[in-house]
Formats: sequence, structure tokens, C-alpha cells
Amino acid sequence: MKNLVLIGATIFAMVSCEKKNLEVKHVSEMESGFKISAKVVNDEDPVCHMKTAEHLSDTLTYKGQVYGFCSSMCKDEFKKNPDSYLK
Ligand SMILES: [Zn+2]
Repeated sequence: MKNLVLIGATIFAMVSCEKKNLEVKHVSEMESGFKISAKVVNDEDPVCHMKTAEHLSDTLTYKGQVYGFCSSMCKDEFKKNPDSYLK
């Protein structure tokens, strides 16, 4: 009987530990926001000049090149007049 309680406690500890890990993973995903990892040709967001390596959250393929943006707002702004941002 004593062993059974011990096994039960061990399983409970394992389950609660697993749950804790999932919560930690969830928090770290929240902290990173909508950041995505993609290979882009621009080091900076052409609209606001933020570093795409640190703030990439959206991409757009223009003339066969993948450009990264910090947000969909900057992407929309770029789409209005791409050539003016690529000078
Ligand atoms: Zn931006």
C-alpha cells in the first residue's frame, strides 16, 4: 500500500512537471510576439528602418525577392509604393 502511494506521488510529480514546462513554453511564445524566422534580403524594414533580424513579423515577395517587415502595417505601406522604398 505504501508503495502504491509512492508511485502515485511520482506520477503526479511527473505530470505536474510536464504541465509546468508547457506553461513556460507558452509564456516564451507570448514574449516573442508575432516574430517569425524567414530568410529576407533586407537587413532593415524599408519603411521604419527597424532591424528585420530582431523585429521580423511579416514578409512580402516583390520581384522575386523576399522582403521582411516589422509589421503588416509597414508591409502595406511598402506595397503602396515599393520602388520609392528600395532606392
Ligand atoms: Zn516597420
